[in-house]
Amino acid sequence: MAMRDPYEVLGVSRTAADAEIKKAYRRLARKSHPDVNLGDTGAHKRFQEIAAAYEILKDPKKKERYDRFGDTGEAPGPSAGPPRGGVPPQGPFGRDYRQAPSGRGESGGGGFRWSGDVSDLFSDLFSGSGSGIGVGEDEDAAAALTIPFRDAVLGGTVSFSARIPRRCTRCRGTGRSAKATCAACHGSGAIVETESLTVRIPAGVDTGARIRVPGKGRTENGDLYLAITVEKHPYFSREGDDIVAEVPVTVPEAYLGAEIEVPTVKGAVRARIPAGTISGQRFRLKGRGIENLRTATTGDHYYRVRVVVPTVQSEEGRRLVEALGTLYARDLRAGLPRGL
Ligand SMILES: [Zn+2]
Repeated sequence: MAMRDPYEVLGVSRTAADAEIKKAYRRLARKSHPDVNLGDTGAHKRFQEIAAAYEILKDPKKKERYDRFGDTGEAPGPSAGPPRGGVPPQGPFGRDYRQAPSGRGESGGGGFRWSGDVSDLFSDLFSGSGSGIGVGEDEDAAAALTIPFRDAVLGGTVSFSARIPRRCTRCRGTGRSAKATCAACHGSGAIVETESLTVRIPAGVDTGARIRVPGKGRTENGDLYLAITVEKHPYFSREGDDIVAEVPVTVPEAYLGAEIEVPTVKGAVRARIPAGTISGQRFRLKGRGIENLRTATTGDHYYRVRVVVPTVQSEEGRRLVEALGTLYARDLRAGLPRGL
């Protein structure tokens, strides 16, 4: 597949300055980042294309080579491919992007592969200098949003009010009108507006994810990016896409084995524990964890058994438990060291 004109991909003119190219890249990369487009495979492809285009235009040497030979497809050297035909096959983003031997990413122009690990780039894309995430840099805005565990796991809609710094329309964000400080924004160039928003949370979102709200940025052309924090759940713990939770069982259940009801994020499931189960033993319910839209896989549910000793004290209890004591074949602590 021939690579598209990188200037066209980034939507900048051939005379665009470096800062303008960088700005266009950051904005487009944020918009099409796989993490804000869960389940949208087209976004993944657009993101790769944008990354590849920027890889050429941010590098003076590659840019010059493209500018000079791009249209004719002439190669400057025997090993490098023609600029139009493709980027040189090294990872265009250094540590963030590298040529993976069997990358999940599809082959972009010229055969570079995206390793799929964009976490560093991700935080870089959404980080701004100083006042918050990307705010003040261009037309986008950012806000933090904490969502309930249930909505993060199962998906849902969350309503909240966000404080968004809107570019001052009186001074167009300059903070100055005529020769004085802008009276509307007091020179800051922005006016903070509180807006009630409702966003759809895609299932599988985790802390650190970003959700894009189109048209709600600093200007109406910009977007609002929500930095997501997921609340902890008192019972279910999350480990990636897996869920871990503890299930108490009785001594007879552990000794004899039993079918017990195990709570999972999508409802209770009947599951077996084998005879002779010990406290702390972990069992897996495959595919009962979190459905991850980004990787299109589903995690597992692990339930850890806790054997609970009865608390009722009675004569009969004493008799039963003393009988139980005769069932231990050996001294449980026989093999332990006495100390260091
Ligand atoms: Zn103003």
